[in-house]
Amino acid sequence: MPAPLPVVRTVAELRAQVAAWRSSGERIGLVPTMGALHEGHLSLVELARGQAARVIASVFVNPTQFGPNEDFDAYPRGEARDAALLAGAGCDLLYAPTADEMYPQGFATTINISGVSEPLDGAARPGHFAGVATVVTKLLTQTAPDVAVFGEKDYQQLLVIRRLARDLDLPVEIVGAPTARAPDGLALSSRNAYLSAAAREVAPALHAALRDAVARLAEGKTVEQVELTGRAALERAGFGPIDYFEVRNAETLRRFEGARPDGPVRLLAAARLGRTRLIDNIAG
Ligand code: AMP
Repeated sequence: MPAPLPVVRTVAELRAQVAAWRSSGERIGLVPTMGALHEGHLSLVELARGQAARVIASVFVNPTQFGPNEDFDAYPRGEARDAALLAGAGCDLLYAPTADEMYPQGFATTINISGVSEPLDGAARPGHFAGVATVVTKLLTQTAPDVAVFGEKDYQQLLVIRRLARDLDLPVEIVGAPTARAPDGLALSSRNAYLSAAAREVAPALHAALRDAVARLAEGKTVEQVELTGRAALERAGFGPIDYFEVRNAETLRRFEGARPDGPVRLLAAARLGRTRLIDNIAG
């Protein structure tokens, strides 16, 4: 059994611990999460451990990135389980601030990022990326890590965070981690806990449709054909509504102007299965 994980809940305690490690010359890694941890999160901790002597994980279910009709109240929470998993993965510290610590009375700042945060989830979830960008900026300035690790599972979020770190001159290296999947291809996600047994059987169709789309692009099908076929496959499998199933430029998330991609490709999809919204993406 690993030793229980130290937990800090205030910016002051966090900074004191980081300062102590820094004074010994240690590099610091940060893995921000919303808890309800799974192997995907733990793979981020492992990646961070390869790049920093000390790894801090944050668990904060950030209210400002949930829309009014989204699952903030229902979002799974369980700090004791999360702390045990993090300790087992070799994490050194859990930062679990309260909402009041993050957003004290009078809090009035929002980080808005244009361009890369606008399409896809930005269109489907108004305000979501402003909430993400604001909380991640705070986590990065509170912790001041050398490196911070984010999953490609949330590919658009990763690009948004790279953009904000560059634009705000944050002295941190943003590292993207590959998506951890169940053996049947379903991307691991805290929200998979919402899936009924029947929906769980259907859910891998999302990844399968994305893989199929990559193959069709390679065969020379047009972007439009590939997107239509992908949406139809999801509808047949029982998904709906489908927020998007799109072929985009992997760096800018812009659409390609011609019928076929002429730059790096990322395929991204988001769709509802029952009451659960699933997202996934793969390289083209
Ligand atoms: P969340 O707790 O869902 O906000 O996710 C916290 C971090 O874990 C984000 O950087 C996510 O992209 C990442 N993450 C979530 N699921 C996975 C996964 N299946 N594989 C890799 N990273 C993931």
